[in-house]
Amino acid sequence: MKPRVATAWLGGCSGCHMSLLDMDERLIELADKMDLVYSPFADVKEFPRDVDVTLVEGAVANLENEELARIIRRHSRHVVSFGDCAVTGNVTAMRNHLTVDAVLNRSYVELSDMHPHIPRDYPTIAELMKQARPLHEIIPVDAYIHGCPPTAGQIWTAVTELLAGRMPALTHVYLRYG
Ligand code: SF4
Repeated sequence: MKPRVATAWLGGCSGCHMSLLDMDERLIELADKMDLVYSPFADVKEFPRDVDVTLVEGAVANLENEELARIIRRHSRHVVSFGDCAVTGNVTAMRNHLTVDAVLNRSYVELSDMHPHIPRDYPTIAELMKQARPLHEIIPVDAYIHGCPPTAGQIWTAVTELLAGRMPALTHVYLRYG
């Protein structure tokens, strides 16, 4: 059976996932070595059981993020902090003092060139926590991939090492705590 791999997106901008896609043809090679069982790229709604490696992009910024992080930890053998938002909070941590009303007003009224108004039917936005948290403050994390975003090469190295059953050994790139 191939290793089961997941990727998840918490409070981030999707840039780390875009960098993952920058692996280009190496993605085809990876697809031969693993099964992608959950990801923003895949239409799976519930986080599955028995996942070998999960890459998590983004800080824990709201209660939905926290709940998903705990589910991921319960069902993943290795959890990897994927990018600086997951590792340190990074830019995600700069917005949590703002209220939803303030963000909508800034986006749709103050910065609008034409017809400034807040749309009536915008989707429900989860209330932000008082402070965004790096992933390892919420759940134990096994490996860290730094960068905003990490390069495709860093991601490739980390994933192929983990799939081979080894912790990534490039200590100047990866810090392992605990
Ligand atoms: Fe986006 Fe950078 Fe955060 Fe990745 S680390 S989610 S690229 S801001």
